[in-house]
This record gives sequence, structure tokens and C-alpha cells, in this order.
Amino acid sequence: MPKLSDRVSTFTDSVIRRMTRIANAHNALNLSQGFPDFDPPAEITAALSRVALTGPHQYATTWGADNFRRALAAKQERFAGYSVNPDTDIVVTCGGTEAMMAAMLTVCNPGDRVIVFSPFYENYGADAILSGAEPIFIPLTPPEYAFDPAALEEAFKQGVKAIIVCNPSNPCGKVFTSEELALIGRLATKYDAFIITDEVYEHILYAPHKHTYAAALPGLRDRVLCCSSLSKTYSMTGWRLGYIIGPAEVIEYARKVHDFLTVGAAAPLQEAAVTGLLLPKSYYEDLRELYTRKRDYLIKGLDEIGLKHNTPQGSYFVMVDISDFLALDCFRGWSDLRFCEWMIQTVGVAAVPGSSFFRENVNHLIRFHFARGEDTLKEALTRLARLEHEVAARQKGA
Ligand code: GLN
Repeated sequence: MPKLSDRVSTFTDSVIRRMTRIANAHNALNLSQGFPDFDPPAEITAALSRVALTGPHQYATTWGADNFRRALAAKQERFAGYSVNPDTDIVVTCGGTEAMMAAMLTVCNPGDRVIVFSPFYENYGADAILSGAEPIFIPLTPPEYAFDPAALEEAFKQGVKAIIVCNPSNPCGKVFTSEELALIGRLATKYDAFIITDEVYEHILYAPHKHTYAAALPGLRDRVLCCSSLSKTYSMTGWRLGYIIGPAEVIEYARKVHDFLTVGAAAPLQEAAVTGLLLPKSYYEDLRELYTRKRDYLIKGLDEIGLKHNTPQGSYFVMVDISDFLALDCFRGWSDLRFCEWMIQTVGVAAVPGSSFFRENVNHLIRFHFARGEDTLKEALTRLARLEHEVAARQKGA
């Protein structure tokens, strides 16, 4: 067989999605790959059944259906407070994943450097490789996940094309403050770099934390490519509707990348999803309350079991510290991946090994998500409470 692409040989499959497959094979509760087990708002699913009969069923405009882009521009203006021209400033993509990939391909030449905060959502590693960019990793140090401004400036000094900012952050739940974003903005301006934001959790925040849209900060509008999606906001991860909002000259390029990657996002789904973009403010307040209840329920349960964890400020992930387990003889030399596999097999709960998010050698954190109904979270906690027993049994046999 002829040799396959070098590019692809340098990264693995997604560990997040691999954990879902292992969880399914063992019939475990899946708190690994983050997606809700509940449906989108009824208004959206009702619109979807109407659209089945009325269409559209053929291609939408490659960069997004007209009414979808208009509704999106209006929503961005409503929440972010800056004006967006739906005719020039938006490209609709197949999910946030394509938005990020298209953004990288839009701004990067092979060899360009891109700053990535670590821990990072695993796709960015593959995005960098596929676009030929070379990542420079800047640590977000647990438990606060703060970064060192001096280290960040040193990275910028190496000459970078862009910085990727996932806010609120997957996997660590950090919400960047407006001061942190302004600092990033000052450095990006000083060293003339783009800011590519991944804001898919923009509406999943826990008081008192607030979402700051980097593009809305003074002077940054022309260098921010805001990538986001409808997946998390409207619980519709399978619809694959995402977008980039940015300056017209950049979006003109991004539209070309998107056109040749996928032609367009599904036309009937865009039509039905307009209903979601027009939902009133109360929808977003309810969403925040829903996730606040889930977060509080899960972290209270983790506290009761005695599992150490961070407290996410946004997104729907929590990092649990397994270092006490890994210090035991019976787990000597184990990776977090092996521990996660063992946990699936013994107590039937799936998490993502933290090492798949960190550039640094971090092996003691695992990521759970809590976009699950309360019954599932309750059952997950019941199962996790058995960990101690399973660990003791293993330790006895060690
Ligand atoms: N963003 C979600 C996560 O981190 C889902 C990832 C995916 O598989 N698209 O779990």
C-alpha cells in the first residue's frame, strides 16, 4: 500500500470520543464525551417537524441561510453588544469543530505559531497539525487555572499568528475575566496576532461569573474570530450547527475554506434552528439555572464521597483529582487512561483522562461532564461511592 499522510499519522483519534465507545461497550454511565441526554427546546423540535414538510431540503447558501445569519447576527448583537453584519461578518459551519478548523486554516500558513492554553480541548492539537501551525503552549495552572502574563508575553515575542482562547474553558471550567481578555487583547495588538475564540459554552455560566465576548472589548473587533455553535446552548449537538463571526475581510477567506471543506451546514436544520436563535432572554436564564443545579448537585455528591475536584465557573465539566488513588501500591505506574478504563469496568462510570487535555505531564486529573438528567447524576454518584470499596478490594489483592 502507498504511504499514508504524515500529517494524520502524528495525532491519535479523539480520546473523548474513544471513552464514549468504551463506555458504550461496557454499558457504563457516560460522563466522558460532553453532550446532553435531554432534548432541545420543544419550540425547536416542533419547527423541525414543520420543516420536514415545507423544506428547504436543498443546499442553503454556502456561508449560511439568509434568515439563519440574520437571526444569528441579532443574537450576537443582543448578547455581545457589538454590531454584526449578517451579509459580511458570518460564516455558518458544520458545528463549532468546523468553525475552529476553518478559522485556523483561514489565518495560518504552515510554520506559523499559535498560542494554545493548556489544558486545552483536544481538537486544537489536531487543528494545528492539519493547518500546519506550530502550537506554543501556555499553562493554565490548576487549581485556579491562572496563567502567567509574563510567560504569555514571552510566547507572543516568538512571533505568533494567533492565540486560541476557549472561554468558558473546556475542560477546566475557567471563565476568563474581562481583565484577562483585555490583557490578551493588548498583547495580540502589540504583537499583531489574531484571537481565535471558542465560545461554545458562552451561555453556561455560574454566578457570579459573566461571559465577556473578546470581540466586544475596545479595539479588538478586527482581530477576533469568534467561533461558537448552537450545540450546547440549545442541547442539539447532533445538528452540527456552528459559526464564525469576525471582520468582513477575514470572513471572506473563511467562507472559501468552509465552501471547499463542507459546502454548507444542513439547510433544514438551519431553518428549524432559527426558532432557537429567537428565543427570549428567559430561555438563557433557565438554562443557567438548570446547569447550576446540576453542577451543585454533582459537586456536593463528590464532596460527600470525598473526591477532590475544582469548582467550574462555566461550561459543564468538572476535573476530579485521582492522585490519592494513583499513590496506592495497587495503581503503581498506572496512567489516568488506565484508571478511567478500570473505573468503567468496575463501577460503570466513564470519565476522560485529563492527560488528553494537558501539554504538561499531568496524570492525576480526570474530567466528568454533568449534562445529564438528575437521575443519571444520582446513579453516577451512587456508583462512584463504590470506588472506595473497589479500590480497597484491589489494594488487598495487590
Ligand atoms: N465538546 C464536547 C466534549 O469535550 C464534545 C466533544 C466532541 O466529541 N465533539 O466532550
